[in-house]
Amino acid sequence: MRTVIGWMLLALVVAGVARASDVRTWTDRAGRQFEGEYIGFTDGQVQVKRTSDGQTFQLPLERFSDADQQFVKSRVSAETPPTKTGVKPEVGAKPAADAGRPLRVAYFVPADREPEPNHLARLDRVMTSIQTFYRNGMRAHGYGPTTFRLDRAADNQLNLIMVKGKEPFQAYDREAKDRIRKEVREEFARRGLDFEREVVVVFQALLLRAPGQTTEIGPFIGGGNGYKGSALVYDDMRLDAALLGSNQPDGFSTGGKTIGDFNTGYIGGTAHELGHAFGLGHDAERTMLRQRLGRSLMGRGNHDYGKELRGKGPGAFLSPASAFALSLHPLFTGLDLDDKSPEVTIEELSAIPAVGGLTLTGRITGDPKPVGLIAFNDPATDPSDYDAVGWPTRFKADGTFRLPITDLVPGAYELRLRVYSENGQAKRFAYSYQVDSFGRPDVSQLKVTN
Ligand SMILES: [Zn+2]
Repeated sequence: MRTVIGWMLLALVVAGVARASDVRTWTDRAGRQFEGEYIGFTDGQVQVKRTSDGQTFQLPLERFSDADQQFVKSRVSAETPPTKTGVKPEVGAKPAADAGRPLRVAYFVPADREPEPNHLARLDRVMTSIQTFYRNGMRAHGYGPTTFRLDRAADNQLNLIMVKGKEPFQAYDREAKDRIRKEVREEFARRGLDFEREVVVVFQALLLRAPGQTTEIGPFIGGGNGYKGSALVYDDMRLDAALLGSNQPDGFSTGGKTIGDFNTGYIGGTAHELGHAFGLGHDAERTMLRQRLGRSLMGRGNHDYGKELRGKGPGAFLSPASAFALSLHPLFTGLDLDDKSPEVTIEELSAIPAVGGLTLTGRITGDPKPVGLIAFNDPATDPSDYDAVGWPTRFKADGTFRLPITDLVPGAYELRLRVYSENGQAKRFAYSYQVDSFGRPDVSQLKVTN
């Protein structure tokens, strides 16, 4: 009898069926608790399915309490079969599988319309192009070839979440973002997905084509907080990453625009609004780098995306500030901490002036632990924030930092700090200061003492 039960337990483990003992209350090093089911352990990461919402996410083993770490180690050694030599493989020696939340892609069609021709294959190419753009950018800034994961079915086809609008085409105007998000949210709920816990790109069949003219009917906008977000963008039968290099005239545009220009505008726009959905702010490239690198995606680089494929300059690139923020985003780390808004205290802040620059130093504390910041240095000459240059830095273990900011020219500036916590969310602070006609900053406003 004992042997039979033993085999039954083994069979359950092999089949991957959760045992009652796999559901437990987990405690992290900060004492926070949640209930979830142990799924597995690979590459130093523990996969857990949270009971409250069914989300599966992973966390490094060392973030858990000693008791949880013991539990994981005992589960791993129980599951790992002895090798021929009788030596068990090292815990965590297996490479990590795809983990964490994928980016969701939805398709919104008004009640009186059909999806644009060939939409599934085209949008797969569009999203794969954008995925590759982000991966190349992360690699260029030293974060390795990391990017977001696309939601794909077992046959590798892109999972497109179709949303049939309740109203006809002309009812969705430029200001319809809340109505469209609501309809998408309802469709997500029907599928057991929580729109408010995802990052979503919604392609809308809301461009109106006429000979020589394309009119934008619906909203084109992105927003997010570093945990969840959405981007509302357009689909059109011309939209295709395979056509970024095309010099064919676009019969639905004015002014000699090409099909390549159309795709630069709207694929670049999709990549930019997705950046906002990831929580990224606007930031421009440094002037001295523009010639070589082109323009920053989160500045005005969306207008240059893929131009290099037509021999029209260096195209767009991912800025160091964007890459820093994304290096903490759950869709890039595969971790899924929580969407807790961080509490942040600037304990000390001061700036050492120089001609044409300053060095910002300080100490910052908070919960969850702040790990770094981006200083957006924004000249007041342009009232928009597209021309702010973002300067990222990581904190030392004690929360101190030292960040040189250069390229200052005479005039007024706003310095906006986004302090990032380890869960990928940021808290914002803003300061104003002047640079005199000799290029010397007045740093008296850049001072905090607690
Ligand atoms: Zn923007």
